[in-house]
Amino acid sequence: MKVFTVIGARPQFIKAAVVSRAIRETRGDMEEVVVHTGQHYDANMSDVFFDELEIPPPAHNLGIGGGTHGQNTGRMLEKLEELMLIEQPDWVLVYGDTDSTLAGALAASKLHIPVAHVEAGLRSFNRRMPEEINRILADHVSAKLFAPTDLAFDNLRNEGIPREKIEMVGDVMCDAAVFYKRRARKPIWFDNLGLKVNDFVLCTVHRAENTDDPIRMRGIFEGLRKSEAQVVLPLHPRTRGKLKQIGLMLPSNVQAVDPVGYLEMIWLEANCRIVATDSGGVQKEAYFNQKCCVTLREETEWVELVQAGLNEVVGADSEKIAAALRCPREFASRSQFYGDGKAGEKIVSSFFNAEVGAEAVAGGSVQD
Ligand code: UDP
Repeated sequence: MKVFTVIGARPQFIKAAVVSRAIRETRGDMEEVVVHTGQHYDANMSDVFFDELEIPPPAHNLGIGGGTHGQNTGRMLEKLEELMLIEQPDWVLVYGDTDSTLAGALAASKLHIPVAHVEAGLRSFNRRMPEEINRILADHVSAKLFAPTDLAFDNLRNEGIPREKIEMVGDVMCDAAVFYKRRARKPIWFDNLGLKVNDFVLCTVHRAENTDDPIRMRGIFEGLRKSEAQVVLPLHPRTRGKLKQIGLMLPSNVQAVDPVGYLEMIWLEANCRIVATDSGGVQKEAYFNQKCCVTLREETEWVELVQAGLNEVVGADSEKIAAALRCPREFASRSQFYGDGKAGEKIVSSFFNAEVGAEAVAGGSVQD
């Protein structure tokens, strides 16, 4: 069986690492062709993840990044179609909600190659987010939808997706957190910045809804300033560019560093006092590391954490941000919202079950 994996952005490398490992560890006959669209291309946004997480080197790198959503998606679609025609995969595997996800899903479905979507069914119900459009469209052309949570499963059913296409496997990011925990690595700059374990805020900001809006950007950084906490900010290249563009200086209590690799990131998550982020993945990783999260958005897809009182959604309001960071809640939860750390294995088994099912059907039709 040949699986054609399409990835292109940082969170997809982390998710794909889990499934790639499960593919390698399976005794079945499964070949994976990894295609990197090039959406994220800086060494610290891409190469570091392939190295640290032992993802198979991409068989193809399309080098498509830096354009608008339409330009990127269109160029990826054309190239991916060419490659799918050459590779003739049995499945195309896409992750999450980026332009690479949408391009992979569309190219495959037009060629009648079945699409499997990992992290299906997430909804913010905010269609101004490019991610929301990407995930809805990818879900609706997929033959297999791997839902990470009960809520994601319900969202898919509510949109009329047939029950038999959906599998509740848990979240591959939970697998990653469990597997890589023992390899977590303290960043070499940590002590030099005067930081102390359990006494800093770990912050990330990268979503277009924040970075493209100077008022929101000012609100967020004003909130961090007012919190008076020591803040570490691994700075996404997009955010760095936008800060420069709008001439916003970082407050003195916010220390920007270059984006870190995953192993350093999970060390920071495990050793901070609280997380402030607009990232989807980092919200969950705060929970995996038993840290409360302050979410710098107006809504979140990870509603179960909000309902459990572990995630406070504060938007870009400086007062709310400062208050949430000054008086963090106690982390108290024993729930397993994101599965048992075996989502990768379940995903790989599902492909084999599908193959067995297809053989049974084919066999049946001969006998009939
Ligand atoms: N991450 C990382 N280094 C960083 C910032 C984030 O390794 O400097 C990881 C983080 O641990 C998480 C993933 O990147 O696993 C989240 O990606 P991102 O925030 O870019 O995207 P989102 O989750 O919002 O789609």
